[in-house]
Amino acid sequence: MANYDYDLFVIGAGSGGVRAARLAAMSGARVAVAEEHRVGGTCVIRGCVPKKFMVYASEFAHHAKTAEGYGWSPSQASFDWPTFLAAKDKEIARLSGIYVTNLQNAGAELAHDRARVVDPHTVELVNHGRKVTAERILVATGGRPWKPDIPGAELAITSEEAFHLEALPKSIVIAGGGFIALEFAGIFNGLGVKTTLVHRGPNVLRGFDDHVRAHVAEEMERRGIKVILGCQHASVEKTGKGYVSHMADGSSIESDLVMFALGRQPYTKGLGLEDAGVALAENGAVVVDDYSRTNVPSIWAVGDVTDRINLTPVAIREGAAFAQTEFYGQPTRFDHEMVASAVFSQPPVGAVGMTEAEARRALGKVDIYLSRFRPMKYTFFGGAERCLIKLVVEAATQKIVGCHLVGPDTPEIIQMAAVAIKMGVTKPQWDSTCAVHPTLAEELVTLREKFTPQELGAAA
Ligand code: FAD
Repeated sequence: MANYDYDLFVIGAGSGGVRAARLAAMSGARVAVAEEHRVGGTCVIRGCVPKKFMVYASEFAHHAKTAEGYGWSPSQASFDWPTFLAAKDKEIARLSGIYVTNLQNAGAELAHDRARVVDPHTVELVNHGRKVTAERILVATGGRPWKPDIPGAELAITSEEAFHLEALPKSIVIAGGGFIALEFAGIFNGLGVKTTLVHRGPNVLRGFDDHVRAHVAEEMERRGIKVILGCQHASVEKTGKGYVSHMADGSSIESDLVMFALGRQPYTKGLGLEDAGVALAENGAVVVDDYSRTNVPSIWAVGDVTDRINLTPVAIREGAAFAQTEFYGQPTRFDHEMVASAVFSQPPVGAVGMTEAEARRALGKVDIYLSRFRPMKYTFFGGAERCLIKLVVEAATQKIVGCHLVGPDTPEIIQMAAVAIKMGVTKPQWDSTCAVHPTLAEELVTLREKFTPQELGAAA
């Protein structure tokens, strides 16, 4: 057997890479991890975690308004961006440090360097100018924001820069209709920035249930975000005052800042994978099978670089399944079915399973239960915000195949709903669960009225 420097070399210390490296090292394997930026990856450094802190920070403005309805007078409150940034960066540094410690405690070696695959068993540490060999190589390099090739695109920030702005702009145009665009629209709007969201599609959140998409857009507008649909950038221009977004339909919008949140691409550029014979998809994603194996027997890939479901818990599970299979002798596949997800827009979304349209296509006849109502917290003072809950049920089996929620705490609620739905719960079993009162979630187990497609069309 060939003598390698390591049993496993992991490229990228993000969600997937760290989990795989730790588990493999804990089995006694000789493991090294290369990270070119900061340990923790997108999630910890410039994704989920700092984003959620920004969501929390921005929500206080809405809480203050609600509080007024309850008799408080919090209107003197003010927000200091530099104070928030310093606190956020301190916490991110602490979390990144924990990731480093966990890797070291597990016995993995960490190289702060960019890595490049040279051949199926060799990796080059670019800045150190050193080559190392490994029996297995795991690619976990994540993704990068994508920008369109239009004049002035370089003037627009992406989510990467949004976490480090020196000062808050007075106004911002955000291009995009995906979860990152919506989340940042809510963040900037909540922090007092005049926010315009432009999206080329007919509605935001492609891939989510149509009722959710319409409801979220409506509620975001209610909170003061200007949502422009069916419209996209032709160019961005810098002026003495700020920026002008020139749109394809001939209109233009002036703002202090422009942000592109138009999607992300797998980060395989310059990684040497093609030279090693690894098959890539057209968008650069590493092509893998259910066990995260590439077509080269010594190379695997997990997480966003494979462009399957681009979420942190999925990357972690794929990394764990790889380690379980290769270092513990337990062949393990991560099941990509019924993965719940949240959008931390304001109001937020929680969803799991099929949309109504997907279910109608796949299953034929479905029963739809839907309710829109004002949450108790807001009815108290006449607030207009409404939430939405929707269940998609396969008619023949009465299995719940989709659950779609918009409203306060729905990302928390969907986690538990996902447990039952993944286990195959039927509507009668679901309904036999006694409600917890008074909560928003209780509405889920008291949905009785079925809607016909005609009624639903009218409702949407
Ligand atoms: P990453 O976490 O991206 O890690 C890849 C690592 O590899 C990086 O640290 C990178 O620096 C390093 N690297 C790349 N190339 C090399 C190289 N050649 N050599 C050395 N190192 C290299 N997911 C959720 O589940 N919930 C959320 O709320 C959520 N919010 C998000 C918000 C934003 C703004 C963004 C951008 C993403 C968000 N995500 C969220 C997605 C989530 O962050 C990713 O799915 C997850 O981080 C993917 O993990 P990964 O291990 O595949 O890659």
